[in-house]
Amino acid sequence: MLSKKVLELSKQHSVIRDIFEFGMERAKEVGAENVFDFSIGNPSVPAPKEVDETAMKYIESGDPVAVHGYTSNAGIFEVRDAVAKSLNKRFDTAYSADNIFMTIGAAAAVGICFKSLVDGPEDEIITFAPYFPEYQVYAEGAGCKLTVIPAETETFQIDFERLKSAINVHTKAVLINSPNNPSGAVYSRETIQRLAELLTEKQKETGHSIYIISDEPYREIVYDGIELPHVPKYYDNTLVCYSFSKSLSIPGERIGYIIAPCEAEDYADLLPVFIASGRLLSYVSVPALYQKVVGDCADLTADLSVYQANKDLFYNALTDMGYECVEPGGAFYLFPKALEPDANAFCERAKKYDLLMVPGDSFGCPGYVRISYCVPTERIEKALPLFQKLIDEYKE
Ligand code: PLP
Repeated sequence: MLSKKVLELSKQHSVIRDIFEFGMERAKEVGAENVFDFSIGNPSVPAPKEVDETAMKYIESGDPVAVHGYTSNAGIFEVRDAVAKSLNKRFDTAYSADNIFMTIGAAAAVGICFKSLVDGPEDEIITFAPYFPEYQVYAEGAGCKLTVIPAETETFQIDFERLKSAINVHTKAVLINSPNNPSGAVYSRETIQRLAELLTEKQKETGHSIYIISDEPYREIVYDGIELPHVPKYYDNTLVCYSFSKSLSIPGERIGYIIAPCEAEDYADLLPVFIASGRLLSYVSVPALYQKVVGDCADLTADLSVYQANKDLFYNALTDMGYECVEPGGAFYLFPKALEPDANAFCERAKKYDLLMVPGDSFGCPGYVRISYCVPTERIEKALPLFQKLIDEYKE
């Protein structure tokens, strides 16, 4: 009786979850301190104290009905206004509440963007490997095709030649994710300008608008003073998907937003269409309490400095040992080359040392592995000798 399609999806095991479960089982056998689980991308730092204080303030002295109530579909006006003002300070933009649509995290933001752009199964959204595996699920939910451009493994930057030949009359959007999960790659201003030029040309050629969907949950986690370009400044038809999951370390509260810039061709219809797409996906509104909290905390982040320290330590140590890895510019992942062609076999071998990593196959990039370093720094320090043993084994 169940949907065959959904039943099929339910059987596609999340490799990341499986590794995580393995880690839990293994911890029971050898002790949690001896299992080095680098599989899950869960923030390892607490939310800033202001998050809890603000939540308490609204619970203790806010309107007891409104604080737990439905909100308007696009989100609480004052919260959207606060988010717009925070963005304006940061990016020198002129957003108002009318440009902000609150969502249940970046997941819902991307899902709603897909649903809002897609008409039928022939429609395509293009993205680049390596990519966040849930994009396939969002495409399935929207009923379109996710076209994946193979990874450019020298730099994990955009392969413009391949992108140019992949765009066709069915292309609805190009989905980018910078800083990237899993490679940590960050796109520069020049890259975004080049993408904007290509898409402007292709819009003329195909005779219809092609959106950039910019998925930015790691926007605040960038290293070594890198400045992240604000994509709508370079290309009008941009939808930015943001999340407070990583920036405020509140992934369980499920809160984010979409920016719909006034310059976008379909601006007048965007928010109503997001609302309709949300309804199609059974979203009603976003939890009121945490809307209020992020509205008050929009200018804050958790203390994200540990990620830079972890990146420096882990990247330098692994590359010194001989692992091949592109240096991440942001997010909290390393994406080194596996030490044998089959990354699954490599990850199995690493398990011998209780080192848990995710094969790149899950991200559309076989032969590589994802290492999440959102862990306490001392876990990395303890794991490094094991990475040395692992690479030594391959040298024998
Ligand atoms: N997009 C990317 C690239 C991610 O890595 C994640 C979560 O890890 C999401 C979207 C979903 O984030 P959220 O928790 O805000 O739904």
